[in-house]
Amino acid sequence: MYCDNEEQKRELAQRRAAELKARIEDYLRVRPLIPDGFSGWENILRRQEKIKKFFRAGDKEWYDWRWQVRSRIEDVETLTALLALPPEKVEEIRKVGEVYRWAVSPYFLSLMDPENPSCPIMRQSLPSLPELLDNEGTEDPMAEELTSPAPAITRRYPDRLTINVTNQCAMYCRHCQRRRNINKPDQITPQSHLQAALDYIREHEEIRDVLLTGGDAFMLSDEQIDWLLTELDGIEHVEIKRLGTRTLATLPMRVTDRLCSVLEKHFPVYVNTQFNHPLEITPEVEKACKKLSRAGVALGNQAVLLAGVNDDAHVMKKLNQYLLKVLIRPYYIFHAKAVKGTAHFRTRVEVGIEIMEKLRGYTSGLAIPTYIINAPGGYGKIPMLPQYLVSKDRDKVKIRTWENRILDYDNHE
Ligand SMILES: *Cc1c(COP(=O)(O)O)cnc(C)c1O
Repeated sequence: MYCDNEEQKRELAQRRAAELKARIEDYLRVRPLIPDGFSGWENILRRQEKIKKFFRAGDKEWYDWRWQVRSRIEDVETLTALLALPPEKVEEIRKVGEVYRWAVSPYFLSLMDPENPSCPIMRQSLPSLPELLDNEGTEDPMAEELTSPAPAITRRYPDRLTINVTNQCAMYCRHCQRRRNINKPDQITPQSHLQAALDYIREHEEIRDVLLTGGDAFMLSDEQIDWLLTELDGIEHVEIKRLGTRTLATLPMRVTDRLCSVLEKHFPVYVNTQFNHPLEITPEVEKACKKLSRAGVALGNQAVLLAGVNDDAHVMKKLNQYLLKVLIRPYYIFHAKAVKGTAHFRTRVEVGIEIMEKLRGYTSGLAIPTYIINAPGGYGKIPMLPQYLVSKDRDKVKIRTWENRILDYDNHE
């Protein structure tokens, strides 16, 4: 009977729906236990009050990004006044700090939970002993210094390139791939180099996409950003501009109305940022993202796969879901390169592929970035994917679904 049949179909679909829910039951259990910047906001605000008091600062200073940069914490005395750390850890920071520079904005410091020894914010920002014990990595594994056809430019692709506009950052990530630059004094790329880079782009009509990176492109002043984007807009073959910045995570007050009105003038602008853990996504970040989106800026995230921070499918899933909540589209997950001093962050490639396997199907396609290994020698980004094409004949392919069902599929023209 038609009616019975309908009921049967509905019942099958309901059974299937229950099965689908069961596929994420483990995640639903774990998700509330993974710290994030929304559920943690009350605690973060309390720490911010303490930090403001220490600096005798009010909201006016706190929301002034230049004050945040000026007030970066970069010595153990200030750090221990603001954060209760065990004496061994303090000694470790002091010792490693003599070799590798560190600095944290007061805002990013307020995200740290000293009661959590594996706090993902502390792990990314405070020096640790393994940095000194890493004898494997090299300083420039991507040979950036051999792929620079003009001052400040890195070119690895036919139609796009990067201009390194500064070596400055709001903080110095412990996993930084450009460590070799951060021990040098803060420096905006000299005007003559920027001019030479722009000349190179002018002379190469195939360049349609220009990325301003660093360091952190948002460490430039609004005027400098405006000038660079105006110059690029004056080059007819440049179709899109991208800016790379981690300030959305480490210094969201950098996204001022003034900066947004500059970016708005230079449509189309893409901002790519770096969030590595959901704890970095706070109401303050949400505010900054809303402003940028209103200014017509498209937002993307480039996470780095970091042992002890996000080398876990559940953490990575929550990170990507929370990025979507603030209108940032997950774009890449980078495999951590063999940069000297960062061995303790490295994972095996299998870890990244397993994470990708556990994202596809289990959550929105929008929440799924591409996992990338940067080829040694500066030969470009290589996507690393789980295998969904199981085997291939002339007329048939075997394919695999996200739940691991193997299916035959006709392969005719
Ligand atoms: C990553 C990168 C780009 C941009 O690559 P997309 O895959 O287009 O995002 C361009 N130039 C260099 C040198 C890069 O490292």
